[in-house]
Amino acid sequence: MTTQATAGRLESVSSYIDPYPGRKGRERIVETCGRCGGTGVYNAPSRVTFYTSAVNDITTGCFSCAGTGVRSFLVSSARQTARRRAKEADRSRGIAAQIAYAREAFMARHGAVYESLAEQHAQLRHNDPLRSRIGLLLESAEESHTGKTDINDWRAAAEAVLEEIAIREEAKRPVPTGRIEIEAEVLSTKWVENDHGGSLKMLLAGAGWKVWGTVPRSLDFNDRPPRGHRIALTATIEVSADDEAFGFFSRPTKARIVAVPHIAEED
Ligand SMILES: [Zn+2]
Repeated sequence: MTTQATAGRLESVSSYIDPYPGRKGRERIVETCGRCGGTGVYNAPSRVTFYTSAVNDITTGCFSCAGTGVRSFLVSSARQTARRRAKEADRSRGIAAQIAYAREAFMARHGAVYESLAEQHAQLRHNDPLRSRIGLLLESAEESHTGKTDINDWRAAAEAVLEEIAIREEAKRPVPTGRIEIEAEVLSTKWVENDHGGSLKMLLAGAGWKVWGTVPRSLDFNDRPPRGHRIALTATIEVSADDEAFGFFSRPTKARIVAVPHIAEED
């Protein structure tokens, strides 16, 4: 592919620039010390003193030039350093380019699916199990350039989760509202603290809708886990502001268990 070829070409071009063009490798360069500006004196508080040739006395000398005020080195060693630095820079640039090209190639083929996943991830409730599955898929997409992700598996898993969301959306029905009798299944229960100590809440699933409210004291699960019980009750249901398939029930009465789960959750 062209992406590979381009990434390869970027890597092969060296950014090395000869620091002393036209000079022989064995030539010695003498430069003013950049640390002390040629004074040979360390320009910050220090207790370390030594004979400093630049001032011809014992003082707090510059460590960089050992108090000489100059630094001398061979052209060949300066070239060696410049080559090593250029190689390191080229290597980092090459890696960055490969990542960018791999991402681009991934997005060119799977960008639409990726965007759909990202959109769902932003919209779904935080405790939605599908949301955490999408989170993992988005993470592995971010790491697609490492080659650790099987892209075909990723695509299949992404499409499967989007399909599940579509089926679930399709099955959604507006929650019934007003003072009515409902029959629904207990999905979960949760103790919620409040100013009066707290109360046990439950999430109920009806035919395409869900409601959340307080578990009536009269409802006796006989010490079994509430999840999976089918119950009936009369309550006032209000639809939530952001989801017509979700509501809140209050003042439940006449609560009774219609059916217990076939298999106990425990044991
Ligand atoms: Zn110096």
